[in-house]
Amino acid sequence: MSSPEPKNIVKTLSLFSGGLDSIVSVKLIQEQGIDVQGLTFCTPFFEAEKPRAAARRIGLPLMVLDITEVHLAMVRAPRYGYGKNMNPCIDCHSLMLKIAGEKMEEMGYDFIFTGEVLGQRPMSQSRQMLHVVAKNSGYADRILRPLSAKLLPETLPEKEGKVDRERLLDIQGRGRKRQMEMAERYGITEYANPAGGCLLTDPMFSKRLKDLFASHPGFTPRDLELLKVGRHIRLNDRHKVIVGRNKRDNQSLEPLIEDRDAVFQMRDFPGPLCMLPGGGPEEVEREAAAICAAYGDTPKDANEVTVKCRRAGETSLLLVKPVNRADLQERMI
Ligand code: SF4
Repeated sequence: MSSPEPKNIVKTLSLFSGGLDSIVSVKLIQEQGIDVQGLTFCTPFFEAEKPRAAARRIGLPLMVLDITEVHLAMVRAPRYGYGKNMNPCIDCHSLMLKIAGEKMEEMGYDFIFTGEVLGQRPMSQSRQMLHVVAKNSGYADRILRPLSAKLLPETLPEKEGKVDRERLLDIQGRGRKRQMEMAERYGITEYANPAGGCLLTDPMFSKRLKDLFASHPGFTPRDLELLKVGRHIRLNDRHKVIVGRNKRDNQSLEPLIEDRDAVFQMRDFPGPLCMLPGGGPEEVEREAAAICAAYGDTPKDANEVTVKCRRAGETSLLLVKPVNRADLQERMI
């Protein structure tokens, strides 16, 4: 007697952010007996900690891809432009779906799904935008949004019977009541706040990034890391100085220092660690040293102070007059 044909297991990739919507969408798809693999991304602008923690909590296998290079190229020149800050969300979503689509093909998955909800974010999750990002990814008919599927055109996996459309949902809008009820039903009590996590939506970081694009087009990943630390003060078209605001900043700057940088600290008084990335000519280094002195515990009557300048393991001393901090305000990046 021949053994019965093995049942074809449907396998899918979840573009997993770790938020409530992506968690309940995973549960909804798993309920249909479909095998779900999570996929998330990291770049210098966002990390994978939140999705990692959420995946651990719900027992979802998670693949984390570092997409820095291709993502950065997109951030420099987004086809659809930026949002309120330096966040090119339409291009970013399209790119993530494209990479997910490529992984799906490469690894033999049947379709991709996301936790997106129609109309939840007025711009990026409008009917039109959901269509645009899916189309731009090149995998439009294999991208399912289980939470809003009944309000959207039928996708290939639904047509092929790989997923039962009747058991998908028709959620739309900003409210999260239904998703919270689902979470309760699935026994999920802990989930992260949906907002936050992407530095490209942060106004201060965006200003610095714009400045970096304009002033240092040949920047390195290290320069992106520096944008996250301290005060940044522009000295001229080519040079800026970074001033640690506190002990934590000073500690964060230290491992990012390279031999080509000039690093300043006051010799006789406590004060910040200051960095001139890539160093500079003598007058620029003197200016950086004077800024370093301005942010240190310099006695009020001190006319000049000694600042240590180290570069590639060598230290020299500069005698400078601290600048007036108020004069630096408009040069802050
Ligand atoms: S908020 Fe950041 S990570 Fe999210 S789509 Fe926009 S640019 Fe991409």
